[in-house]
Amino acid sequence: MFKDTKLYSILTNKCPHCHKGQFFKSKHPYDFSHFGKMNSECSVCGEGFERESGYYLGAMYVSYALNIGLGIGLFFLMVMLLKLDTLAFLFTFLGTVLILFPLNFWLSRLIWINFFVKYNKKLNK
Ligand SMILES: [Zn+2]
Repeated sequence: MFKDTKLYSILTNKCPHCHKGQFFKSKHPYDFSHFGKMNSECSVCGEGFERESGYYLGAMYVSYALNIGLGIGLFFLMVMLLKLDTLAFLFTFLGTVLILFPLNFWLSRLIWINFFVKYNKKLNK
């Protein structure tokens, strides 16, 4: 459905350049034995994933934006629609952020590298 889009690379843990090789070593974000371990380069096209030091610091801004989006969504659901206490919202939000941390880590790094690496459709034939 969304093949050949950046969303495909982000949601399926694929190389942003060829959409074939794995970006992270593990297959899902909650595999804690390989938590946060990335391949140094794409096994298919050779695109380097380990860039200059500090490259993925920018992913913190993406992570922040994802968490703010989550917070706004939860606030609307819990406080505006369900008329729940703001303290209940706060604790639910903090719990959700903690539980989703591995997923957020994955998505923010994949989104960050997809900002800068262009997809080459010719490599995916
Ligand atoms: Zn690749």
